[in-house]
Amino acid sequence: MEVTNPATGERVDSYEEDGEDDVEAALETAVETFDSWRDRPLQERTDLLASAAEVLRENKQRYAETMTEEMGKPITQAKSEVEKCAWVCEHYSEHASEYLAEKGHPSPAGSTAKTVYEPLGPVLAVMPWNFPFWQVFRFAAPYVTAGNVGLLKHASNVPGCSEAIEEVFREAGYPEGAFQSLLVSSDQVEGVLEDDRVKAATLTGSGPAGRSVAATAGENLKKTVLELGGSDPYVVLDDADVEEAAETGAWARVQNGGQSCIAAKRFIVHTDVYDEFEEKFVEQMESYTIGDPTDEDTEIGPQARESLLEDLHEQVEDSVDAGADLLTGGEPLDREGAYYPPTVLANVPEGCPVDSEEVFGPAAPVYEVEDEEEAIRKANDTEFGLGASVWTEDRERGERLAGRIDAGCVYVNQLVKSDPRVPFGGIKESGYGRELSGAGMREFVNRKTVWVE
Ligand code: NAP
Repeated sequence: MEVTNPATGERVDSYEEDGEDDVEAALETAVETFDSWRDRPLQERTDLLASAAEVLRENKQRYAETMTEEMGKPITQAKSEVEKCAWVCEHYSEHASEYLAEKGHPSPAGSTAKTVYEPLGPVLAVMPWNFPFWQVFRFAAPYVTAGNVGLLKHASNVPGCSEAIEEVFREAGYPEGAFQSLLVSSDQVEGVLEDDRVKAATLTGSGPAGRSVAATAGENLKKTVLELGGSDPYVVLDDADVEEAAETGAWARVQNGGQSCIAAKRFIVHTDVYDEFEEKFVEQMESYTIGDPTDEDTEIGPQARESLLEDLHEQVEDSVDAGADLLTGGEPLDREGAYYPPTVLANVPEGCPVDSEEVFGPAAPVYEVEDEEEAIRKANDTEFGLGASVWTEDRERGERLAGRIDAGCVYVNQLVKSDPRVPFGGIKESGYGRELSGAGMREFVNRKTVWVE
């Protein structure tokens, strides 16, 4: 696996791919470890998770630098990502016993009935490069603590992150095999998932990858959780704080170079505040510091791969050809590396790429709508259903609208974010199942009923 630094276009590292024998050895180790890991007292598993948080914090700079080199994330955002991983470890370390507490049920006099939560075994995680640490810890912290063991197939452009994450578990004192990184290509995923020793799978990534993993899992009757793409609406109503909505909205679009599943991707603005929003939004989009991702002042680095920049530019060009007006940006920056500037499009025709496809980069279509009903219609006019953001000074109105938007989460007067304390996941083409919180922890467990007479 070759690693190319997207900020320079230089090849910086290469990793040996795992062959069949390596995968076989990893599966054997996973099964052996699971046998004893599942019986370790929960307290021991949560203590180890707290140690994992410490290892993350101790090595924050180094792990952040690996992310920055492999996929171009600005270093300050990479460090925040490591912090967030430590947070999710601490969260489950503190709350696992509550999330996995057995639950009693009504039963006839003289008998007891309850649900207990038992682990399933080795779980395969297929993960993307955009938040190369966070996506993995979001999976691993709850599921490994629940007594499963983890097998990670990370995206091919972040093998260094994959190995660093395995290191975190090793350094924290986990038994060998509790969490293993497999450096395999996507072609090898089917074989791993078909293996009887693997009990379930989770995938965070694109729709085609999700369908492929779900098909194999379905064929083999294995449980899956899918966290797929999004085209989140960002709705600004006539009574919104327009200044704050524009400022937060721009950041919600461009953070991580716009490469986030829950980035605000379609800006839907009430006609009464449209002109003001458009002006402030463009101003904000033009205000960011773009450049070397290792520089602490950089807010937007390169796109993670040259090919992703080309796809993004094609979406923008095709939308302009279809009739959209370009308000700012729209051309790759004339410099070394895969740099694309924040881009805003208005008068966007229905069905053009930035309207109908997921845009995984800092380009934003802005729509003017007549009223609340049209805003809701436009918000729901997408195959995706991950997150949504609604801006209004009337909190009740916001909550009412939240009830009418088809998405896994709606944030009122806030950008969409994932937080260990609340469930996260999508509907429609954005996938199914939930991660985080108690709901996330109970996806890959056997919810066993025990009835005693
Ligand atoms: P991707 O191409 O689907 O890759 C994701 C992972 O799946 C990688 O490890 C990839 O391996 C693997 N993969 C690709 N095709 C596969 C197949 N046919 N069978 C098995 N595995 C396969 O997605 P990406 O470009 O890395 O990530 C961007 C996408 O992820 C966007 O759509 C984004 O919205 C979505 N995403 C969703 C969430 C969420 O929580 N809902 C979070 C982040 C990202 P290789 O790298 O080896 O191809």
